Amino acid sequence: MMHQPIREFFKLPVQSQNDWEDVFANPSDIRIETIETGRLTFSNKLMINLSHPNAKHIEEEELTIPVYCHLIQHSVHGNFLIDTGLDRSFQFDVYGNIQGKRRELLWPLKSYQDKGQDIATQLLLRNIEIKGVFLSHLHIDHVAGVQNLPKNLQIIVGKDEPYHCSGKRFFQDHFKGIETIYEIDFTSIKDKKPVGPSVDIFGDGSLWAISTSGHTQGHVSYLVNGKEQITLLTGDACDLELGFKNCVGPGLGCYSIDSAQKSIEQLISLVKIFPQIKVIFGHEKP
Ligand SMILES: [Zn+2]
Repeated sequence: MMHQPIREFFKLPVQSQNDWEDVFANPSDIRIETIETGRLTFSNKLMINLSHPNAKHIEEEELTIPVYCHLIQHSVHGNFLIDTGLDRSFQFDVYGNIQGKRRELLWPLKSYQDKGQDIATQLLLRNIEIKGVFLSHLHIDHVAGVQNLPKNLQIIVGKDEPYHCSGKRFFQDHFKGIETIYEIDFTSIKDKKPVGPSVDIFGDGSLWAISTSGHTQGHVSYLVNGKEQITLLTGDACDLELGFKNCVGPGLGCYSIDSAQKSIEQLISLVKIFPQIKVIFGHEKP
């Protein structure tokens, strides 16, 4: 069985009521670097809702896509990861160390990683220490890398995001040794138009968690408001640029196709109003 940490609420700093225009007028000394941790091969029907009218011209096909994590470096608050990618067990097996009789059924994709490509090894080689990990959601390709990181890091996830497991029939024990993870509670947070509830993580407008439920229940996208660049990390609210261009949300296997569609439409509206935002999609080379 999978070890499931207890959940506590992530303590939020005082939230300002500024709109995005004010936020972007006051960027911070925060940088982001996207790091590849492996690849997945599977059908595009999981990444794009092929039943959507806008997707009529898109053929079903098998794609090989990158698996990312992102290093955030904030001059005051320190280093954090957003997602952790695949762990090193995927160097030896396309199912990594996923356990259980149903792993082939419930992980219907092949996953690959080159030697030294896991995030723990990459951070060690570069002598980078991190303070915590913000997760877009708990699917294995986003959280697996946690298992080789120090156990004292603060791990943060959207409220009500379920663990990606099915008892002993399908699980990966990536949270072994971790007592507590922290949930961002969006319930009392107002929409930050045109997107949904958005939380100012450090209280200085540098890093935002945007509730984008749909792909999974507690899915979160992140926005980095840097002096050099404003970057939106859609996470799996939009896996591919093709989805964004055609205004089609993620497909098969979503917690709610309708909410996922609403979430991607909100992100598209934000980027239409503020075209200076650089968008990094969940599984597309930036
Ligand atoms: Zn993913």
